Amino acid sequence: MTEHETTPHTHRRGRFAPSPTGPLHFGSLLAAFGSWLMARAHGGQWLVRVEDLDPPREVPGAAEGQLQALSAFGLEPDGPVLWQSTRDAAYQAALDRLLASGAAFACHCSRSDLAASGGVHRACVAGARRDNPAIRLRVADGTTIGFDDAIQGRYVQDVAAEVGDFVLRRADGPWAYQLAVVVDDAAQGITDVVRGADLLDSTPRQILLQRALGLPSPAHAHLPLVVDADGNKLSKSLAALPVDPADPLPALRAAWRALGQDPRALAGHGATATLLQAARAAFVPSRIPRGPVAASLAAAHNTEAPGHA
Ligand code: GLU
Repeated sequence: MTEHETTPHTHRRGRFAPSPTGPLHFGSLLAAFGSWLMARAHGGQWLVRVEDLDPPREVPGAAEGQLQALSAFGLEPDGPVLWQSTRDAAYQAALDRLLASGAAFACHCSRSDLAASGGVHRACVAGARRDNPAIRLRVADGTTIGFDDAIQGRYVQDVAAEVGDFVLRRADGPWAYQLAVVVDDAAQGITDVVRGADLLDSTPRQILLQRALGLPSPAHAHLPLVVDADGNKLSKSLAALPVDPADPLPALRAAWRALGQDPRALAGHGATATLLQAARAAFVPSRIPRGPVAASLAAAHNTEAPGHA
C-alpha cells in the first residue's frame, strides 16, 4: 500500500431529510439521531434538508417546528438547511438531461390505465393524451440493482419487474421524491445516507437515477423500523406521537436504546449537550439491529432496553 492510500481524507457527510407533514415524532427522531451518530462516528459532517415537495401533504409551520425540535434535541446541522421548495431549477436541469438522453420519457397513462399491470408501468398504454403528462425514468427489462446496506446487508431488487418505469415528475406537477433526493444528495455532497428501513426499497431506484445522471452513489444504512409491543408498525400510533422538545432526554435515551446501544453509557447525564457527547463517544454502529425494534415513548421513561422483535 502506498503512503497516499494509508491516509484517507475522504470527507464523510450525512444528512437528515424530514418531510414537513407534522411534528417531529419518535420515528423521525430515530432517523435524525441515527444519522447524526453515524456521521459523527466517521468524523463527518451532518446536514438537514426539508423535503417540502408536496404542499397538499404539508402542515403549515411543521418544518419550522421540526427544525426547532432538532435544535432542542441538540442536533445542530453543520451548514444551512436546504429547502426542496427552492430547488425547481436543479430538478428541471436534471430532468432535461434525462429527457435529452432518452433515459426519461413523457407518459400519458392514468392510474386506471395501469390497473391491469398492478400499477407497474412497463410500456405506455394510455387511453387518452394529457395536457401535462408525467415524466418517467425508463427501466429496461431485467434491470436488477443490488447494494450492500451497512445495517440491512445485501439488498437486491428487480426494478423492472417490481417497480417498472417510475415517475420523476407527476402529471399534476410536483417533483417525485426519487428525483429530488438524488439531485439534492449529490448537490449537498452526501456520502452516507442513513434513514429508516421503510425507504430501503426506494434505494435501487435512486441508484439507477444516480447512474443515469452520472452521479456517485452514497453508502447506505437503513435504520430499523420501530414497532409496537405487538410488532405493528407505529406510523399511525406511537411512532407518530410527537416527541417532546421541552423534555429531550427521555426521547434521546429511548432512541439510543432502539439503536441497540448500551443504556449505561448515557446514565447520569442530565443535560442534552453532555448526553450527546457521551453518546458520540460510546456509539457502536455494529450494535444497530436490523430490526424491527419495539420501542415506545413509554419506554423513554423506564430504564430497560427495548425488546428486539
Ligand atoms: N423525506 C423522507 C421522509 O421523511 C426521507 C427521505 C430520505 O431520507 O431519503 O420519509
